[in-house]
Amino acid sequence: MVHITRRSMLAATAIAGASAATGAKTTGRRPYRRIATEEGFLSPAVLAQNAKTHIPGVPLITSEGPSSLVARTLLDLDGGRLSAMDADGIDMQLLLLSSPGVQVFERSTAVALAADANDYAAAACKRHPTRFAALAAIAPQDPAAAARELERATRTLGLKGGIINSHTFDHYLDEQSFWPIFEAAEALDVPIYIHPREPATGMREIMSGPVAGGPAWAYGVEVGTHILKLISAGVFDRFPKLRIVVGHMGEALPFWLPRIDNRYVAMRAGMFGGAKPMQRMPSDYIRENLWVTTSGMNYWPQLRMTLDVLGRDRVLYATDYPFEKQGEAVGFVEAMPLGAADKKALFEDNAVKLFGLTR
Ligand code: MN
Repeated sequence: MVHITRRSMLAATAIAGASAATGAKTTGRRPYRRIATEEGFLSPAVLAQNAKTHIPGVPLITSEGPSSLVARTLLDLDGGRLSAMDADGIDMQLLLLSSPGVQVFERSTAVALAADANDYAAAACKRHPTRFAALAAIAPQDPAAAARELERATRTLGLKGGIINSHTFDHYLDEQSFWPIFEAAEALDVPIYIHPREPATGMREIMSGPVAGGPAWAYGVEVGTHILKLISAGVFDRFPKLRIVVGHMGEALPFWLPRIDNRYVAMRAGMFGGAKPMQRMPSDYIRENLWVTTSGMNYWPQLRMTLDVLGRDRVLYATDYPFEKQGEAVGFVEAMPLGAADKKALFEDNAVKLFGLTR
């Protein structure tokens, strides 16, 4: 196992090196565009508000101090970012307001800064229409305003869906007060990306440290839990055409599918006090309402299993720029034993179809 991993890493490094040298020139010759679908940015106004916001256990990126370098990278939606994309062989980025977005701000501030961030992203998409598309930041603090902003951002600004960074002040989207957002997304026929952030207060203390906390474990488990809460609350029975996207190879859900179904069947039969019936099996909602991206999880055994479980049409390429190395992530996937049609689906076709990007 170690040997295989080492070999594939060496192959990936060689390819990443090649694309770094020639990525821009080979763009036209590849049989597909490489579209990366979970790529971070920050607006100047969100960055300024981050500096004024202090929540214990929730570090925010600011333009001063240790996060200043990544702040500059996140702000740049022109030259520096385009050069990095060219060097790493990324044709297009789908931009998402970096986590936790506006969800840590007071309600009216969050509503205003979501709209401002969407204007900032839309302007970049207009300047570089073949290189950038974006999702709309929305403020779940005000569900009605979030639904209206999703409509404005997609209909008027041309953004491609919504982004929500998991819970908002410890409240999860299974609470019906948030459902106007899902109603709008279904009516507008745009997907909602649910991205990680620091878990809710109680979970944050339990899942902490360099291994159990953060992106290593806590973020994925928390978002996976969020999706299962949506299923058990009946969100997809109420909004059967709702499309939800999660990153990080499905936030562990593909691995758990048969067990989740198995335990649901046992509980429906009366075990542990029973379970209220749903219209479909838990795995059906995941197979039919969920799309996943590879952000930060560009590993072959995990991708192979996810493709097996969810199918080729459900898995999209993503890097998680600038938090992961773009060129390395491209190299890993290019080195995988996937057929040409599978690679085209992963890198381009699924993103075009799911987000309604231009061909
Ligand atoms: Mn991410």
